[in-house]
Amino acid sequence: MGQLIVQKYGGSSVADPEKIKNVARRVAESAAPDHRVVVVVSAMGKTTDGLLALASAITSNPDPREMDMLLATGEQVTIGLLAMALQSLGRPACSFTGSQVGLYTDEVHTSARITRITAERISAALDAGKIVVVAGFQGMTEKGDITTLGRGGSDLTGVALAAALKADVCEIFTDVDGVYTADPNVVPDARKLARVSYDEMLEMASLGAKVLQSRSVEFAKKYGVSVHVRSTFKPDPGTLVTREDHSMEEAVVTGITHDRGQAKVSILRVPDRPGIAAQVFGSLGAQSIIVDMIVQNISREGLTDISFTLPRADRQRAERVLAGLVREIGAEGVVADDRVAKVSIVGVGMRSHAGVAARMFTTMSKEGINIQMISTSEIAVSCVIEDKYTELAVRALHDTFELGRERE
Ligand code: ADP
Ligand code: ASP
Ligand code: MG
Repeated sequence: MGQLIVQKYGGSSVADPEKIKNVARRVAESAAPDHRVVVVVSAMGKTTDGLLALASAITSNPDPREMDMLLATGEQVTIGLLAMALQSLGRPACSFTGSQVGLYTDEVHTSARITRITAERISAALDAGKIVVVAGFQGMTEKGDITTLGRGGSDLTGVALAAALKADVCEIFTDVDGVYTADPNVVPDARKLARVSYDEMLEMASLGAKVLQSRSVEFAKKYGVSVHVRSTFKPDPGTLVTREDHSMEEAVVTGITHDRGQAKVSILRVPDRPGIAAQVFGSLGAQSIIVDMIVQNISREGLTDISFTLPRADRQRAERVLAGLVREIGAEGVVADDRVAKVSIVGVGMRSHAGVAARMFTTMSKEGINIQMISTSEIAVSCVIEDKYTELAVRALHDTFELGRERE
């Protein structure tokens, strides 16, 4: 018997009917002669952004359950069309929504976590000789409500189905031909990585390299799914995301990432006493607002400033939460800044090399870029800077750490 292959095609790969027909041809080739194929697809092109815009034309505070009802429609369009395209090529195919394949999640609408996958209908359809087409990004609560898995969540659907079905291969097809040392659309001489470890990919994804959704990498690591990121439009091999091996530690820095989806919020002149931070971040957490970097200034006259970053989309909600709290704790006020970006360097080699952060800061200073906030992990250093310097910073860091193409 042949292999069981899970393939995922992203929004730009299925953006119009011609591209859907192209994907159908590629899927049909992969299925020949005796492989079983499960295809996960995203919504066409920028459909999800369009649906979000529609919702915001109705209300600034949509009900998350209804938001999921709306967002899940995008992927349902693509699965119907792709199944038809496969059938037009003479290939038996059948499409399913997330609920139909038994992809169960918790009840956290718009960023639900997968709890279990039954996949009964997938197995039955595969046994019947069909190519199975599944809607990415969506699932269902135990009560039967439709949920979505967070932006970029079709990657997670692909990886999770590969794990549940014990697939031989999980391929993520996209508009670039692999994972690069930096976003190739920003750094022209970025280099394709042949292999990257789960931990590095996880860090790169959560620090802004949207080529894979970070939760999908977390899931792949947990279940040991090797993920092959490759191009929808070219046949070449791409990047294997897999367990760490020794060769990976040779490079000090593996990649540079940037994230322009951030905002910075500062609470001014906060009374410096025990319990304040717990109150501030407790009330944000209670609204499911995920805060990233936090900086508290040295206290003067018993007052201090607290600044933090968060996803830009959550800024208004955070300001609403903090408006009441500021009066309660006796702080002076809240200011927010959307014109910030986070630039990071990532690499497992950092564990065993000193002075890497200093090289990053020197590069920023040479370019005249002010660093507003800094955070570090075992294998990454991140700086918050003014948004307009993002591309300059990424390119300069890419040069400093010599990540460009090897010269002949
Ligand atoms: P899809 O629609 O297939 O899910 P995405 O737009 O989510 O595709 O992800 C692919 C994009 O990720 C690329 O077009 C590229 O601009 C961006 N990207 C950011 N960082 C990287 C990186 N380090 N390597 C490759 N692509 C990256
Ligand atoms: N369509 C969803 C999004 O745009 C999921 C995905 O593309 O992975 O975020
Ligand atoms: Mg994506």
